Amino acid sequence: MSGGLVVVGAGIVGASVAYHAARAGADVTLVDAGRPGAGVTADSFAWIGASGVRSGPAAALRATATDEYHRLEAELPGLPVTWSGSLSWGTTDVAPEAGPGQEIVDAARVAALEPALRQPPEWAVWAPDDGAADSVGVTERLVAGARAHGARVCPDTPVTAVKRDATGRVVGVETAAGPLSGGTVVLAAAAATAALGAPLGVRIPVDPSPATLFRFSAPVGLVRTVVNNLDFDLRQVAADRLIAAADSPERTLAAVRSTFHGAANVELLSARVGLRPMPADGEPIIGPVTGVPGLYVAVLHAAVTLAAAVGRLVARELIDDTAEPLLAGCRLDRF
Ligand SMILES: Cc1cc2nc3c(=O)[nH]c(=O)nc-3n(C[C@H](O)[C@H](O)[C@H](O)COP(=O)(O)OP(=O)(O)OC[C@H]3O[C@@H](n4cnc5c(N)ncnc54)[C@H](O)[C@@H]3O)c2cc1C
Repeated sequence: MSGGLVVVGAGIVGASVAYHAARAGADVTLVDAGRPGAGVTADSFAWIGASGVRSGPAAALRATATDEYHRLEAELPGLPVTWSGSLSWGTTDVAPEAGPGQEIVDAARVAALEPALRQPPEWAVWAPDDGAADSVGVTERLVAGARAHGARVCPDTPVTAVKRDATGRVVGVETAAGPLSGGTVVLAAAAATAALGAPLGVRIPVDPSPATLFRFSAPVGLVRTVVNNLDFDLRQVAADRLIAAADSPERTLAAVRSTFHGAANVELLSARVGLRPMPADGEPIIGPVTGVPGLYVAVLHAAVTLAAAVGRLVARELIDDTAEPLLAGCRLDRF
């Protein structure tokens, strides 16, 4: 990599790229239109769900997600992640075969794991190594880590264009506050990445995909794991708070109240729609852009799960000029 690195977007993806690159010695500028972590990262259910994936171009990458978070926890003490395991049921009548990192458990085991359940299912998929993140807290910790390694952080600074020289090489970005120079630009601006690529003639097939996050009041210790069934993804985030990723506020509230003992007084506190950056085939788009030297893209779904792994691998590719095998199936030129 020649010249400095400009990372556009300080969500969990850009923050992780900036942290890992700064830690590896790069000259990094992290720029965001708003506050770090205030994009879709702020409305994430933030399940670190790396179990059960067997196929797809990013399967091997996903398989590393949990270990990469444990590595990051060691590097950044106090990183706000929790390891409760996840319990999933109800998507098929018969128990599926357990995938990597999973086991099939019976009703007695489910009841032991989630004692407040009124009617434990006959079987569930238990993924003991799954966890969850305080996604904004992790992003802020990554930004602070990047700063500690010398990165410049520019919040409230919308990037309006990627700049190139006469030969077509990237030389930085134009922002509302003036130019920022850098020989490499990483676009980690979630669904807005497509609009930043378009003026360069680069088509990045990612669309905003809405999903709703509900926050509920809740009694202490109502839910112990990450629970995933036909009604909701649900977890306890504080002694008095639950969050759920689900469709309807009324149905979700009714489902929470009827699924657990002691949940009669659970109340809906808020509902927020987040726009998930969804690549056209659902798989990550990560890598250098052919034909635009110096331009690199990092846009993906389930990015909370993959952030620790992706940040480290992208920094390696940029700084050591490697092609990481785990990212081989994620390139833009597959479209
Ligand atoms: C309800 C819900 C549940 C979810 N559940 C999970 C889950 O359980 N597990 C999981 O892994 N993922 C989950 N996700 C998805 C996950 O939240 C996203 O994949 C992740 O947050 C994306 O991070 P990001 O950094 O790419 O995007 P963002 O956090 O949106 O960051 C992009 C940043 O780019 C900035 N930006 C945009 N345009 C510009 C510009 N022109 N100039 C400068 N900055 C710009 C924005 O301000 C923003 O801060 C969920 C999402 C939702 C909404």
